[in-house]
Amino acid sequence: MNNYDDIVVGSGISGLTTALILGMNQRKVLLLEKSPKIGGSLSRFYKKGIPFDTGFHFTGGFANDLILSDMLSVLSLNDDIHPEFIKNPEDNRFIFENQGKSFEFHSGFEQNKKDMLSYFPDEKNAINSYFSKVKNVRMNTKAMNIRAEFVMQQPLEEDFISLKEVLDSLTDNKTLKTLFSAFSMCHGTEPSQISFANHSRVTYSLYESIARVKDGGNAFIKAFKNKLKEYNVDIKTNTFISSCEDIAKRKVGTFVLNNGIKLKADNCVFTIHPEEILKTFQEKNTSKAFIDRVKNFEESVGFFLTFIKLTKKDQKPLNPAVITLYPDNDLDKLFDPKYKGDLPLVLVKNSEEVKNEKINIINAFELSHWEHVKQWADSTTGKRSIEYKEYKKNRTDRIIQRITTMFPEYKNCLEVIDSASMLTFRDYLNNPYGSAYGIKQKIGQFNLFGRVQYKNTYAAGQSSILPGVLGAMMSGFTICRYILSKEVYAKFIENN
Ligand SMILES: Cc1cc2nc3c(=O)[nH]c(=O)nc-3n(C[C@H](O)[C@H](O)[C@H](O)COP(=O)(O)OP(=O)(O)OC[C@H]3O[C@@H](n4cnc5c(N)ncnc54)[C@H](O)[C@@H]3O)c2cc1C
Repeated sequence: MNNYDDIVVGSGISGLTTALILGMNQRKVLLLEKSPKIGGSLSRFYKKGIPFDTGFHFTGGFANDLILSDMLSVLSLNDDIHPEFIKNPEDNRFIFENQGKSFEFHSGFEQNKKDMLSYFPDEKNAINSYFSKVKNVRMNTKAMNIRAEFVMQQPLEEDFISLKEVLDSLTDNKTLKTLFSAFSMCHGTEPSQISFANHSRVTYSLYESIARVKDGGNAFIKAFKNKLKEYNVDIKTNTFISSCEDIAKRKVGTFVLNNGIKLKADNCVFTIHPEEILKTFQEKNTSKAFIDRVKNFEESVGFFLTFIKLTKKDQKPLNPAVITLYPDNDLDKLFDPKYKGDLPLVLVKNSEEVKNEKINIINAFELSHWEHVKQWADSTTGKRSIEYKEYKKNRTDRIIQRITTMFPEYKNCLEVIDSASMLTFRDYLNNPYGSAYGIKQKIGQFNLFGRVQYKNTYAAGQSSILPGVLGAMMSGFTICRYILSKEVYAKFIENN
């Protein structure tokens, strides 16, 4: 007899979503997490009593009826998660440092288009065409409507053309092209490599609305934890599958945990990095084709984060804001690991209540590559070299310098509370390269999703369909549609 119907590996937003949907469908589920706590990239950390976000700062998809709200409503979590929308255009801003120009946007798809037209009145055709193409992709992507009937989304024409190719066909204006690509930091792939379709899927929801969430990712973790208790879902932390055994007829018969416990299950869904999946399967049991596929995947970019407290006296609580500084208007150049100059820097501002006092915070995240930290890959948190500490200090100093150059009012009132490199994210998130979005959404690269290697093992998570919290959550819904069957899934969605 099976111990579980389903094992879900990894308890980030993808694993939590998958485990909850399966649990809500009367299945007996085991959720496994390698770290001491569940939540993955959603988890916040506290320094000097202040909560800081790690892998979830803001998102699209929350405006009425958009996909994130819809998914949360199906999971009955809407009442526990409170978006804080960015309302003022000056809080949704892109600044080109080399030109001293700033572009502000109202939220709403049509509003964004209007704002863009007001900045570039001579580029009416390019702007109308770009927005219509983005909308067209969004509307034709059935996976972005959890209520749509489909089994497997057929790729669109736009899945086979890069963002850069489309933009080059629309205009020669470099600044406009960069603004069209401006949310590339939210999928982690440069314009020449991301398909126009995936760029549009990520960007559309950010045009519609940008929101932070009250209590950040912790609000999600708490809501999921409470909800999971209502169902037959066991959660085990500090636990992972160390090997797959009794493989017969292309099915894993026994899943062996790191504590020696042996389990049987109908399905096992991995919501972890493909290299972690490969480690679990062990190369000796795995086809060369699968190994080659995983080893040839390219990673998305990562971030270097600086966590800053504003120490200015008598300040008002900050509105949530997302302001991106671009040192240049050639994004492909800025995303190139060999590029040596300043890198795109996103400033996420917010205010947190600490002991009845409002503390203003800036989380500054700068684009980063594995190549920046690779030389210290053998070290672990707390045991790094002086050279690494110098690297962190230099990067942090430069970030502060860029912020105060752009916002002189912050001079002498930015207190750096902490900083984190891709190595920090690697070690805390069990993600082999500490990248922001796992495997790159590269045109022509078919990421792992659905059944992989064996009949009863599946891949979902941020590296599968779309990156970010929204994309990772979507992957949970889509994988459950396969596992539960189309009919059961349709009934579940209809009834919730
Ligand atoms: C610095 C940074 C900033 C980001 N900012 C944003 C943002 O503002 N908005 C946004 O939408 N997205 C953002 N992202 C991306 C976003 O965090 C991810 O796309 C999303 O959270 C991924 O969810 P996941 O469940 O697929 O993976 P994860 O959250 O990484 O969860 C995977 C879990 O699996 C566990 N695990 C790993 N290996 C094993 C194993 N063998 N066995 C058991 N457990 C295992 C890990 O410990 C982890 O808990 C950011 C990412 C980073 C790194």
